[in-house]
Formats: sequence, structure tokens, C-alpha cells
Amino acid sequence: MESFNLIQFYQKFGTEKQCQNFLYKARWADGVTCPKCGEINVKTYKLASGRIKCASCRNTFTVRTRSVFEDSPVPLQKWFLAIYLCGSYKKGISSIQLSKYIGVTQKTAWFMLQRIRYVFENDCFDLLNGEVEMDEAYIGGKDSNKHAHKKLKAVTGKGAQGFGSKNSKAPVVCMVERGGQLHAIATKDTGSKTLMTLARTHIDINATVYTDEHMPYRTLPKIGFKHESVNHGVKEFVNGVASTNTAESFWSHLKRGINGIYHHVSAKHLQRYCDEYSYRWNTRELTDGERFEDWFNHLNGKRLTYTSLVAKKN
Ligand SMILES: [Zn+2]
Repeated sequence: MESFNLIQFYQKFGTEKQCQNFLYKARWADGVTCPKCGEINVKTYKLASGRIKCASCRNTFTVRTRSVFEDSPVPLQKWFLAIYLCGSYKKGISSIQLSKYIGVTQKTAWFMLQRIRYVFENDCFDLLNGEVEMDEAYIGGKDSNKHAHKKLKAVTGKGAQGFGSKNSKAPVVCMVERGGQLHAIATKDTGSKTLMTLARTHIDINATVYTDEHMPYRTLPKIGFKHESVNHGVKEFVNGVASTNTAESFWSHLKRGINGIYHHVSAKHLQRYCDEYSYRWNTRELTDGERFEDWFNHLNGKRLTYTSLVAKKN
């Protein structure tokens, strides 16, 4: 799909029918997989009600079934515009702003954005290779901006070790292949065990890993990685090729966005914001129209209910 502006967007997705047809093709271009019985390339019937009937299990479903749109009363036109805006705004869009643009309550807009981010979640399992930068940062508001009970919770909450020491900010670890893909993972701490597990999970053992002098990274060579470090303390940002400048550039995006647009991001939801920012980073070569279309490639089977989203335990 070529690049398109908002007017062209509305010509393509101005009616519910257009959106339904697009969603149908995006989900089932190579034949319908029944969301009820799971049969691939199944024969279906279109009912007068608009529902689709599976010839195999005889159940009916819609184009929204088993997707983030399921059970949402919001028209697809509004959803599509929200996805387009969320992908196009470099620093993200707040639920307040989105609610005004598409005419829903702020609570609904917040939930829609969380669902949209859920699809941004990186589902590509290619290991990072070549020159990989690994870096950690603390993200979140200043303690003075938070309510007293939240301060306390952040410091004493179960499983919250690591918060509190740096103004209750939450740690995020970024791993980025130079010229390639990026992963940003919200973690409980930045200790050796956590960092090494992340490196093993996301980085090819043949890669060279560039980090700052944070002590736990010294374990990298012990588990088989080639490791180069740079000393930020003495402003030695470029030690030959041993910089973490790519990661730094990502942090500046993320921090500006979270401080400027989202203001309060709880540790519980931090991963979804990281997913949103890394998704935009990873698709930076795409036009807004292409990014919108790409979002639908990650859609199948993903569903996030309001209950699970607001649940106390994450
Ligand atoms: Zn079926």
C-alpha cells in the first residue's frame, strides 16, 4: 500500500463496510481459519445478519471474533483511525487526545490504545546479530508527582525490588542491532541474572555486545559473548565502535514521549509503552500507510480483555 494522508485514509476506510472488508482480507487472505474450531481454509457462508457461518463446526462468528476488536462496541472506523494515529504520531497519542478525535470516552480510548499496543508486541523471534548495543534506563515520573500510596507501593510492593532506589522509576533494558531491530523490555531489576537471561534470549551468541560499564555486563564474556564497553562516566561516548549511541537515541524518544505525552505510566503497563515505541522504531522505514497495514499482520489470535488489563496481578 502506498503512503496516504488523512483524506485518503478516509476515502479507503470511511465506512464500516470498507473497514470490515479490509479486516476480512487482512485476517484471511489465504482462506478463512475458523476462530471457533480452528479449521484452516474452511468453507464458510455469509448469513443475512452479516455473521459468517463455518461449514465444519456450524458455529457463527464475525470478522472481529478472536481479535482485539472482539466484544468492542466501538465501530471499526474509529478503531482504524485510532490505529493509524497511534502508528503515525512519533511520540504517541494520549487517551485524552484520542477520545476527542474519535468521539469516545477517555476510558474507552485508553483501553483501545492498550489493545493497539498489545498488537505492537514484538512477535518476531529473530535473534539480534552483528553489532548489538545493550543498555538500561530508568523510566517513569518523578516521585513528587505521585500520590503517597503509590510511592509506598513502588518501594515496598511485592516483586518491586529495583524500584525505589532511583525515585521509583522502573528499569527498561534495550537491546538493538545496529541498522536492525530493537527490543525494549521492562524488567524488575538490572542485576546480572536478569541481564544475562535477556542477552541469551534475544542476542545471537556470535554477536559483539556493546554496553556501558554497568558492572553486571562484565558477565557477558563469561557466558560466551564478545563484549566491548564504553565509560559514560568520563564522557567516553565513542570508544572506537564501542558506543551505545543507537540505544541512547531510542531512550531519548521513549523518555520524551512518556514524560511529554503519557505523564504517568505505571510499572505494570510500562511494557506496552515500550512495545509501542519499539514498534515505531522497528518500522521507521515504513510510511504511515504501510505501518497501518503492517499492524494487521500481527493481529491474528491476539485478544486482550478489559478484565485482564486492569487485573491487579499482571
Ligand atoms: Zn469452525
